[in-house]
Amino acid sequence: MGIRDAAYPGSFDPITYGHVNIVRRASERFDNLYVVVVNNPNKKYLFSLQERIEMVKKDLFGIQNVIVESFDGLLVNYLREKKIYNLIRGLRAVSDYEYELQMANANHMLFPELEIFFLMADTDFSYISSSMIKEIASYNGDVSKWVSKYVESKLQEKLLKK
Ligand code: ADP
Repeated sequence: MGIRDAAYPGSFDPITYGHVNIVRRASERFDNLYVVVVNNPNKKYLFSLQERIEMVKKDLFGIQNVIVESFDGLLVNYLREKKIYNLIRGLRAVSDYEYELQMANANHMLFPELEIFFLMADTDFSYISSSMIKEIASYNGDVSKWVSKYVESKLQEKLLKK
């Protein structure tokens, strides 16, 4: 906990190499990066919170100063409690912008000391989303370029047995 720590929240349903890229880059710029697997009761996930945490932990294993946690309330409450004043989000296309702007404004209103940093997605991963990966995997398509072997096997287990 400290002024130079940051949090990177997300659904990670499942974690992709696009997320990993953001984590690598952000973790180099802050003392500690808290990767927060969010459980929003209004959202429908393919993977349970436990499964999402497990995949995130496996994929981020070995990256220095990364701490994986989870939270299922209002994000600003978590940040305030942990005294984390820096929030990281990734931006892919213009389509991300409107939602992110709305969220950023709301979070900033609720927690004025919070600074929100947007990292532009790496061009190699800018078109990847968890939902696209799920869609491709559900038709038994090859997702090995975008997710780890472990995530790939979890997707197969979940989607192909349906
Ligand atoms: P959420 O439900 O909070 O949007 P996601 O897991 O979809 O959770 O995304 C978490 C964060 O990671 C968001 O800021 C999103 O824009 C970013 N992100 C997702 N995929 C990528 C990617 N391929 N490259 C860069 N950032 C990404």
